[in-house]
Amino acid sequence: MSSIADNLGILQDRIAAAAGRAGRDPSEITVVGVTKNVEAQRIAEAVAVGIRDFGENRVQEAAKKIPLVEADVSWHLVGHLQRNKAKQAVELFSLIHSLDSARLAEELNRRCEMADCVIDLLLQVNVSGEDTKFGIPPEMARDALLEMAKYERLRVCGLMTIAPYSDDPEDARPCFARARKLWEDLGKLSISNVRMDELSMGMSGDYEVAIEEGATIIRVGTAIFGPRRRELS
Ligand SMILES: *Cc1c(COP(=O)(O)O)cnc(C)c1O
Repeated sequence: MSSIADNLGILQDRIAAAAGRAGRDPSEITVVGVTKNVEAQRIAEAVAVGIRDFGENRVQEAAKKIPLVEADVSWHLVGHLQRNKAKQAVELFSLIHSLDSARLAEELNRRCEMADCVIDLLLQVNVSGEDTKFGIPPEMARDALLEMAKYERLRVCGLMTIAPYSDDPEDARPCFARARKLWEDLGKLSISNVRMDELSMGMSGDYEVAIEEGATIIRVGTAIFGPRRRELS
């Protein structure tokens, strides 16, 4: 199995090449190492080679692992968040990529008030329209943001989307291009208390296309840590 350091080297070369094709500076792109089903010891290896942002898709797994990683790193929630986990999520994560309903926004705001904190969030949009995906339909994103903007403890700072699964990364391009256009259009509205600084899209199979289409954050698991083993209990 190739090492995390080797994998990261390859990843960085490919990020630089994709950014170059799009006339972008690779330093604009944040890599979130997605650590679902990855043990704390391997996360520590990734810290040692310079990764500073990590993503989990389940609050419970994150709550167990985060205390085991003794490093000054940022944790991102990339998976769906249930309202009954909002309190824990506010405590654990510096950026939640999966804000997908007004009811979740209300609960997160309430939990932030109680903890006297604010939380950064991305609005998840379901650009592909697949029934199996969470996220706000693109045509409803504007109204959702206007609704969420009233919550003083929430800092919406961009969009997140997941492309349909495919073996061919080119299949993701239309989805990423639509997300980028939506992100730009929403940014032009200048909604108060809402920023459109970050665009989280692209995973191991399609991050190069995502970067070409404007991603500012990519979420990469297997390309850094290797194929996932079965779920950690
Ligand atoms: C698992 C996951 C990723 C990373 O997937 P890879 O294909 O392993 O890179 C990215 N985003 C989300 C939302 C995920 O659940």
